[in-house]
Amino acid sequence: MKISVVGTGYVGLVSGTCFSETGVDVVCVDVNEEKINLLNSGEIPIYEPGLKDIFTRNVEKNRLSFTTSLKDSLIDTEVIFIAVGTPPDEDGSADLKYVLGVAREIGRNMNKYLVVVTKSTVPVGTSKKVKAAIAEELKTRNVSIPFDVASNPEFLKEGSAVDDFLKPDRIVVGVETAKAEKTLRRLYKPFLMNGHPILFMNILSSEMTKYAANSMLATKISFMNDIANLCELVGADVDMVRKGIGSDARIGNKFIYPGTGYGGSCFPKDVQALVRTADEYGHSLDILKAVESVNYRQKEILIKKIKKHFGENLKGLRFAMWGLAFKPKTDDMREAPSLVIIENLLKEGASVVAYDPVAQEEAHRILGDNISYAKDEYDACLDADALIIVTEWSEFRSPNFRVIEKLMKSNTIFDGRNIYDPEEMRELKFNYYSIGRAAVL
Ligand code: NAD
Repeated sequence: MKISVVGTGYVGLVSGTCFSETGVDVVCVDVNEEKINLLNSGEIPIYEPGLKDIFTRNVEKNRLSFTTSLKDSLIDTEVIFIAVGTPPDEDGSADLKYVLGVAREIGRNMNKYLVVVTKSTVPVGTSKKVKAAIAEELKTRNVSIPFDVASNPEFLKEGSAVDDFLKPDRIVVGVETAKAEKTLRRLYKPFLMNGHPILFMNILSSEMTKYAANSMLATKISFMNDIANLCELVGADVDMVRKGIGSDARIGNKFIYPGTGYGGSCFPKDVQALVRTADEYGHSLDILKAVESVNYRQKEILIKKIKKHFGENLKGLRFAMWGLAFKPKTDDMREAPSLVIIENLLKEGASVVAYDPVAQEEAHRILGDNISYAKDEYDACLDADALIIVTEWSEFRSPNFRVIEKLMKSNTIFDGRNIYDPEEMRELKFNYYSIGRAAVL
């Protein structure tokens, strides 16, 4: 079997590489020439644990290749995945120009039956637009070539994308024909070995499933953040509350950790897009509107705590920041809470020296020299008035506090991820602020 994957970002590159691992021939396509050249020279443009090994193995076996020509990729291809970006439009709805652009290009270049699968996260009804765009191009060419459209939203998580793709909790596929279902079942069969289900459904339900899943996860985060803030006010400890509620199987103990708000390339834009879709249908998704506003507020929670400690005037203060990426094990900075915190600190005349194990290059691309970058976590602490922890990389969990103490001007930590035990911080004589727990002073 041969397939094409259009878009070599986190989703396209991981999907293409993992499909090739099952013996399928995969051609990955991207308009970004620089990315394709890099991939053709054996380099990977993103940080994703485990990807490099599988990538190298399959490139060497000639099962995985890269091109800027969608037309060339179509030779002998049975299935083509659209995995390009769907960034938010100005009004928050998903911008479909890349997805539909690819659909038109497929229509202009296909010469035999194809299953066209949308893997990008797209609003309900997009597959109909993909189908119409392809049909229109075929009509312009005055040819009649059969094709099927399908929806196959992706649930991988950055940081564990390879594992998630190889061992998915479930695979969701929306189809219109038995032929498309048969082809996609065959393609996904190797991933179903551990009893993970493949759920076939109609296309509208499949498209909706992705948004409902991400919105539910974002809701859990905002709920827990709001509860954490209330815990602080009433004198409760959110860690205890989290364990207390998480042991109820109906609630579950996953994804109920408070923090500095959700970021990344998916939750913020997908929640926004679903709210917009609902609005279009005259339905107000009030729950998700609240989820969004709680999240905006939460991204500034550490600034509030910093001002409580230092006073309103932060001018001239120097902050060490540990973690820049929106979560550990990724270099993705899209919508990262660190950006909001940095923007606020710089606006107030403070300076920031940051360290992130893998996201510094990406941060520099976005922030330039507005902040300084440290060579390691200790280097960041030199002469700092306080340390801010934004991303819970595991290497930050057990640092040498005695070294930190010597490097910093004052023993003050603002922990946005609750990675330390307040009692231990008290014994170490640190001022310690965390989320949903009493400050240690
Ligand atoms: P990304 O921005 O990392 O990559 C998108 C790629 O598409 C880029 O390399 C870009 O150059 C390429 N592209 C754009 N237009 C193109 C065209 N006409 N032809 C060929 N290539 C083109 O995006 P991503 O994070 O991989 O996300 C892709 C989609 O998957 C989005 O809809 C996203 O919401 C969804 N998704 C992302 C994740 C995630 O964790 N990143 C998880 C699940 C779903």
